[in-house]
Amino acid sequence: SIILGLESSCDETAAALVTGEGVVLSHKLATQEAQHRPYGGVVPEIAARAHVDALMPLVEAAFADAQLTLADVDAIAATAGPGLIGGVMVGLVTGKALAHAACKPLIAVNHLEGHALSPRLADRDLAFPYLLLLVSGGHCQLLRVEGVGQYRRLATTIDDAAGEAFDKTAKLLGLGYPGGPEVEKAALRGDAKGVPLPRPLVGTSDPHFSFAGLKSAVMRAAQSGKYTTDDIAASFTAAVIDCLVDRTDRALRESGGVSALVVAGGVAANRAIRSALEQLAARHDLPFVAPPLWLCTDNAAMIGWAGAERYALGLIDGMDVPARPRWPLDPHAEKARGAGI
Ligand code: ATP
Ligand code: MG
Ligand code: FE
Repeated sequence: SIILGLESSCDETAAALVTGEGVVLSHKLATQEAQHRPYGGVVPEIAARAHVDALMPLVEAAFADAQLTLADVDAIAATAGPGLIGGVMVGLVTGKALAHAACKPLIAVNHLEGHALSPRLADRDLAFPYLLLLVSGGHCQLLRVEGVGQYRRLATTIDDAAGEAFDKTAKLLGLGYPGGPEVEKAALRGDAKGVPLPRPLVGTSDPHFSFAGLKSAVMRAAQSGKYTTDDIAASFTAAVIDCLVDRTDRALRESGGVSALVVAGGVAANRAIRSALEQLAARHDLPFVAPPLWLCTDNAAMIGWAGAERYALGLIDGMDVPARPRWPLDPHAEKARGAGI
């Protein structure tokens, strides 16, 4: 099969053509970083308008690159949530229009499922079930991925996401936007033991993540004037790594057998975090799978791939499928925890 994937849930607009065998025939991406930089974060209204301008030219470029036309695709997969609703609507409505015009099936993809299945695009041998650490701008979760559409959430953050903590730390340190890559660069020059910082929930029997206390401690350290930016960045990264590794270790011990430890989402682009998780997997005698960096941050290849996995199972959506600002992968866990988490 050949699937057209569309992504527009945050601040990257992207279109990709992906095959059911996991070949990315083409991928075109436009980031809106420069448009949001003056505001230090994503402005939803600017994002939605920029998706409108960027999406169709990217779709055309993706087809030109692959030397294919709309008639050649088997289905159109578009992110239908969760994310900034204006952007999600642009991508989903575009997907519906293309599907309708070409009489092709539409597949509404959960953006988080895109991240969750992206390791199977990177490594075609990766089998279910695997333990996924999903660390992105809006999420920090441990999921037992049992099949396409089958996710059991073992942990989530009770306050900030890991990527959010990176972005807020960058802002506090005056490192600019987007924060993650800037903090990573500064951390390479700093002393990871230079600043004493807390490791929220580490060593406790609570399975979840928490980064708000760490963020406040970073703020106090920055305001004290006692530490260099590089040392704060390095110590912050070390604290995040300790939290991610401890929580993931706990989940691995309680997850009831998995084929691999897998990491996905934008924060998985961080090399220090990847190598710490790789060592953790080795301690558990498990393979470690991390998608290449370009597939960790938002992209359309993962949406096309999730579409291909769904298409192979006959999971097609109707034209009335809604755009959803919130859309948990494991609704049962969501309900059990109550509102907010
Ligand atoms: P979600 O997927 O939860 O809806 P999102 O799509 O905004 O959120 P992603 O694009 O998957 O998130 O990831 C972006 C996040 O990853 C940002 O918070 C960014 O700071 C972080 N990030 C990107 N590169 C790095 C890096 N090298 N080190 C740490 N964090 C990083
Ligand atoms: Mg982004
Ligand atoms: Fe994302």
